[in-house]
Amino acid sequence: MSDLLQQEIKYLPGVGPKRAELLNKELGIFTFEDLLYYFPYRHIDRTKFYNINELNPDLPYIQVRGIISGYAKVGPRHKSRLIGTLSDETGSMELVWFKGDKWIPETYPAGGKYVVFGKPSIFNKKINLIHPDIEDAEKAAQTDIRLQALYVTTEKLKNNYITTKVINRLIFTLLKQVKGKINETLPSWLLGSAKLMNLEEALVNIHFPGSPDKLKKAEFRLKFEELFSIQLNILRTKALRTNKFQGIVFPKVGNLFHRFYNEKLGFELTNAQKKVIKEIRKDLGSGKQMNRLLQGDVGSGKTIVALMSMLIALDNGYQAVLMAPTEILANQHFITLSGFIEALGIQISLLTGSTKKKEREKIHLALKDGSLNILVGTHALIEETVEIRNPGIVIIDEQHRFGVAQRAKLWKKGDKLPHVLVMTATPIPRTLAMTFYGDLDVSVIDELPPGRKPVKTIHITDSKRMRMHGFIRKQIAEGRQVYIVYPLIQESEKMDYKDLEDGYESIVRAFPPPQYAVGVLHGRMKAEDKEISMNYFKKGITKILVATTVIEVGVDIPNASIMVIESAERFGLSQLHQLRGRVGRGADQSYCILMTGYKLSEDARKRIQIMVQTNDGFEIAEADLKLRGPGDIEGTQQSGIPFDLKIAHLGKDGQILQYSRDFAMKIIENDPELANVENKILLMQLQKNFMKKINWRVVS
Ligand code: ADP
Ligand code: MG
Repeated sequence: MSDLLQQEIKYLPGVGPKRAELLNKELGIFTFEDLLYYFPYRHIDRTKFYNINELNPDLPYIQVRGIISGYAKVGPRHKSRLIGTLSDETGSMELVWFKGDKWIPETYPAGGKYVVFGKPSIFNKKINLIHPDIEDAEKAAQTDIRLQALYVTTEKLKNNYITTKVINRLIFTLLKQVKGKINETLPSWLLGSAKLMNLEEALVNIHFPGSPDKLKKAEFRLKFEELFSIQLNILRTKALRTNKFQGIVFPKVGNLFHRFYNEKLGFELTNAQKKVIKEIRKDLGSGKQMNRLLQGDVGSGKTIVALMSMLIALDNGYQAVLMAPTEILANQHFITLSGFIEALGIQISLLTGSTKKKEREKIHLALKDGSLNILVGTHALIEETVEIRNPGIVIIDEQHRFGVAQRAKLWKKGDKLPHVLVMTATPIPRTLAMTFYGDLDVSVIDELPPGRKPVKTIHITDSKRMRMHGFIRKQIAEGRQVYIVYPLIQESEKMDYKDLEDGYESIVRAFPPPQYAVGVLHGRMKAEDKEISMNYFKKGITKILVATTVIEVGVDIPNASIMVIESAERFGLSQLHQLRGRVGRGADQSYCILMTGYKLSEDARKRIQIMVQTNDGFEIAEADLKLRGPGDIEGTQQSGIPFDLKIAHLGKDGQILQYSRDFAMKIIENDPELANVENKILLMQLQKNFMKKINWRVVS
């Protein structure tokens, strides 16, 4: 790309050092190129003016034309605000500024006619615009821009006169300077066959659309490229890995597998489980290293699939490892698996932070000499310390972090890697899966074992707390158990512990001993205390478990049939869904009770509504993605997104994503190294994009 675009932003006429610093700090704009790729979040139709009496808070960003009759300063000094009154033939409204009370009346004197832009909101039953953009009406009439680009700005920028208009004007200046000098970043054959607008035209039209149609094409081109380059990168990484490493071949399905299937498995596998096991068997026999993501809603029976995959490895003389994210889960897996494989003559061990030194040494030895068949443990522990004689398959449970497959390299033998199966109960929307796990093959268990009654979800507010207690008493009298979960987003926040402690005390008051026994479980407890608490609940000694989200994943207690979630509005959708999955595991009707305050934000209301309406994890994940965008989706945020999308939206641009992935796939199939002349430009772009951001290969 031409050096011109790499110029520092301060050299752009109209910017200078002071504004440059603000643009750096507030928007991350350092170069001409950064500014050019600072895309508007929407466009407003400048031919459409609203009357003041038409305004309501549901409208998006709009424009109004009228006269500012005057300004007034209102409120106490330290938090005073400036209010302007804008009137047209149909009424008047307030323009509100919390800052900038000096320069606004000076720049836009009262009595003048203006065009005002903003998003209508309501305060004290009056319509207003908060921190609107303003333009002289006469000047505005002269503009030949029909679709006006709007940019995200910050308070600090606005206070320094860098409004959305100013950004737009700076980009105008910039576009004039770089006209004819923007190099295309996609090969011309691709522009042709994917029917894409060329880069320069797209950049011009995204900021200054020539027409609605051109704007659409510009958006399409830029979204395509953004998603395409991610896909190309993932698929290339995958292809290179496949070429470099071989998979261990497990030619047979042997004795252990068959004995387990015919003698031990007390139930019929669901069709979905059978389908997935077939997919896995095929991988294991293929000679390629398996890198598969197994998605299945909570309770869909992933553990059996994992176990049967491990048995195939064992049947072929290899060892298997199962890694869980927490000690509780590792414990639980260990117990479940031990139960299933009893009397099959399989050696299985558990390795966690609580494993005593002596036992640990024994495990290490047995792994090394090959006598231990299955190791279950926590991620951290296994990664750091373990040496394995014949690692055949690694199963990673509940792992959402990116670059997962790299862990297998820990047990690389020559050019052979063990197979990897990643299991997740957080259904991931297709678009996200393609983007974050695009280098993994995906299997889905989309069917629950028969006989499960869907959990009934109920939303109530504090006023009905007494009634809820009554309901809980009845259920306990019938022999059921209850979880009560408090929000604890950050395990370290003192505040949250207070919620939990207060909650615990009030529950004990409502459910006093000796009639009731209430347990508690949270992340700050010592491992052994956690285990004791968990065991009491498992054995039914405690009837109510007051907990934080530590019980979120994988915990399996069939007799627990009520999940009460306190301050449910503070949880994300997927987390609510995960928690709900802790009940409904037995034969009884289960309930999920979402407690919230009376007043809810629009978003919170939607989340609660979705939870009440559906039990389908994929539907919930899609809704979550649409509501919040990918940056906040649980799982992805843990590791931080390794790239940031400037224009595409994974919740909305699924089709473009698929379209771009298809092109990327074809390219990589024919030219995995991107060595062909016609693809050289793609390789250069990849290097530029992914060096600047994060090197995917080191993220894990
Ligand atoms: P997941 O890990 O997907 O949440 P699990 O593997 O823990 O689900 O399975 C949940 C429960 O359902 C377990 O008690 C398991 O034994 C049982 N289960 C699994 N598959 C079946 C099946 N095909 N039929 C009946 N029960 C099953
Ligand atoms: Mg599980």
